[in-house]
Amino acid sequence: MSTTITEIEERFLSDWSGLTVGRPREVHRPRSTEEVAALVQRCRQEGLSITVQGGMTGVAGGAVPSDGDIVINLERMNAIEDIDPLEGVMQVQAGATLQQVQEAAAAAGWMFAVDLGARGSCQVGGNAATNAGGIRVIRYGTMRDSVLGVEAVLPDGSVVSSLTRLVKNSTGLDPRFLFIGTEGTLGIITRLTLRLHPPMGQTAAAWVAASEFEALPRLLRSLKRTLGSALCAFEFMSDRYVRLACRLTGAAAPVPVEGAWHVLIEAAGNAGQPMEEALQAALEHAMETGEVSDCAIAASEAHRGAFWRIREAIPEVLTHLKPAATLDIGLPWARTGEYLRKVDAELQAKLPGAEHLFLGHLGDNNLHLISGAVDEAGVHEVDEIAYGALRGCGGTVSAEHGVGRLKKDYLSVSRSAGEIALMRQLKEALDPTNILNPGRILG
Ligand code: FAD
Repeated sequence: MSTTITEIEERFLSDWSGLTVGRPREVHRPRSTEEVAALVQRCRQEGLSITVQGGMTGVAGGAVPSDGDIVINLERMNAIEDIDPLEGVMQVQAGATLQQVQEAAAAAGWMFAVDLGARGSCQVGGNAATNAGGIRVIRYGTMRDSVLGVEAVLPDGSVVSSLTRLVKNSTGLDPRFLFIGTEGTLGIITRLTLRLHPPMGQTAAAWVAASEFEALPRLLRSLKRTLGSALCAFEFMSDRYVRLACRLTGAAAPVPVEGAWHVLIEAAGNAGQPMEEALQAALEHAMETGEVSDCAIAASEAHRGAFWRIREAIPEVLTHLKPAATLDIGLPWARTGEYLRKVDAELQAKLPGAEHLFLGHLGDNNLHLISGAVDEAGVHEVDEIAYGALRGCGGTVSAEHGVGRLKKDYLSVSRSAGEIALMRQLKEALDPTNILNPGRILG
């Protein structure tokens, strides 16, 4: 039987965006696909709106319920059902946390490649629904590249099972593409087959600083050429982010902080292949050509962990700057430096009392902006400035967190009228009474 919670706990009301909209009428935590299907059928018959919840680590308000909603929370559907150790394929229920999946893969001698700071709480179903990126996209791609098959409950309560284990399947429409990245608006993902990779070999890490942003894309291009697919992370941070993250975590900055752009770089070869020398040689060359002004190579695992502690201090930073606007813009490398300067100047002029921090995954065209503390009007101001400057840049208002409830007014910055019309057609065809995650993505 699905578990129903009658006394609604606070944790079901909001995600990491801090948005609250209303109180759901019921919270259900089903244990099986059949229970999810029965709940959806009931909602369809009674005309009740559904909010789908994974680990509630999203920052776009997608999992935040409205008044009177039926919440379907996947946290009890967390079984690792099967691992094929020969091919490296895993079948899981959608409510398994990312960390659970990573640990199960490692125990079987494989690796699940998607990784992000919220790994202990976010669920693989939520990762698929948002097409999560994370810190290794540069090497392994996004969640879309790690999902082989999907089972989902449609808004009419029927189940589509497409749990293929095959890498290639050229037999018509691929159901994965209806559910990955569509944030629970077209179906509830209940199970997944996941592609695993061989574990990475020894990982070398470095922290570098550059005095101008334009040096970073050039450095990234040169590392891609010299290290090839061994390059697995290129995480940049503004000096303001590094300063605050170090202060909040008590960490020591690896190089002097002020007036520089900072990058955490990682490279990993295959098992048994040392990477440190290759990374060091590539960075010595960058120091000689003046691209990089400072560099620290991690001498141990503990040292590498200390680098990541600074990069992954987002929860501390968000808590400290609460309430904050958190944006995850995407744009081409060549436009990023100019965009940053323009947006930062406008933010400093219009919201001088707030901190404006930039960081991101340059290799995936992804730039994060955290501005706080700002009230509701301030959040709107940040959105107007940052999304307004994106128009005409060939960018996106969400490179990984999704549109949810918070970015739907800006969808046309990233998507053409034709693309939006196609999304509407699909939503109307699958969910004509708009019961599943209404008000997300399209409004
Ligand atoms: P939720 O927040 O519960 O839901 C997100 C959306 O997916 C909602 O619309 C919800 O309705 C829908 N959904 C959830 N489960 C299902 C399902 N089974 N079927 C259908 N729809 C579903 N994101 C990145 O991409 N990269 C990062 O590097 C990254 N780092 C983060 C670091 C921190 C500290 C935090 C707090 C968040 C970070 N995020 C990152 C954002 C977040 O972790 C991801 O968006 C994650 O994929 C959300 O998963 P979730 O299970 O928490 O989903």
